[in-house]
Amino acid sequence: MTAAFTLNAVSHHFDGAAALREVSLSAAPGERVALLGPSGAGKSTLLALLDGRLRGWRGEAEVLGVPLSATHAPPREQRTGAGFIFQEFALVDRLTVYQNVMNGRLSRMRIWPSLWGRFGEHDHLKTAAALDDTGLSDLARRRADQLSGGQRQRVAIARCLAQDPRLILADEPVSNLDPAHAERILGLITGAADKRGIGVIFSSHQPDLARRFADRIVGLRAGAVQFDKPSAQVTSDD
Ligand code: ADP
Ligand code: ADP
Repeated sequence: MTAAFTLNAVSHHFDGAAALREVSLSAAPGERVALLGPSGAGKSTLLALLDGRLRGWRGEAEVLGVPLSATHAPPREQRTGAGFIFQEFALVDRLTVYQNVMNGRLSRMRIWPSLWGRFGEHDHLKTAAALDDTGLSDLARRRADQLSGGQRQRVAIARCLAQDPRLILADEPVSNLDPAHAERILGLITGAADKRGIGVIFSSHQPDLARRFADRIVGLRAGAVQFDKPSAQVTSDD
């Protein structure tokens, strides 16, 4: 089976400063991996790379069997099929929950639809399923700016699920939430991934959440992998 991703000696610099240093990592399909590290460790940079958004890096990288390019954004038909959960503030406030989630379908289209005109029945079905999986069906018509923080984060997850991703990438998906909501949201993300038989790569600076929701934890510090082991073997000394 195709690996979720494979990185071989990947490095990246921002204005001469190293953000990733010779990172070699891979994940099996269906695996839940947490990238754990303090602010500035390189977690966002690594996830942007896996999402195909980073340019100018060195090394070799493949996501879902598709080689990533360091120099140019891939054309739509060569996208890897990974879905990204952006933080809740990336929602469009004046659109409804339904519309925000339906926006996830845009990334699946060859031709940019004009004024919602080209969404078909399949797009509505995927949107409805994603709303159902995130417990948002009853809020479908509400405007995004009328939701709580936890509800907004659920919309961000639903938007990702509506894309039918083959791998979920999430950058600090629960960093702005209180502990109870954080657990619920990570439970939703990992549960939705399990239901679809796909993997999740999420970043966190909270070891307890990483241990609880990941199979494997990759410790990052100053752009380098410090450790890489099964969650059960990670201790508070790591
Ligand atoms: P984390 O997600 O773990 O907080 P980042 O990947 O955001 O870490 O950042 C890694 C390093 O790269 C940090 O030193 C950060 O300041 C730097 N960095 C990240 N993005 C940029 C950018 N767009 N321009 C310049 N430096 C950046
Ligand atoms: P209605 O058309 O009666 O509003 P729907 O179930 O079709 O009922 O729509 C539910 C919600 O989703 C409404 O808020 C609507 O504005 C929004 N919506 C429906 N279709 C689309 C679409 N193609 N693009 C974006 N939003 C849509």
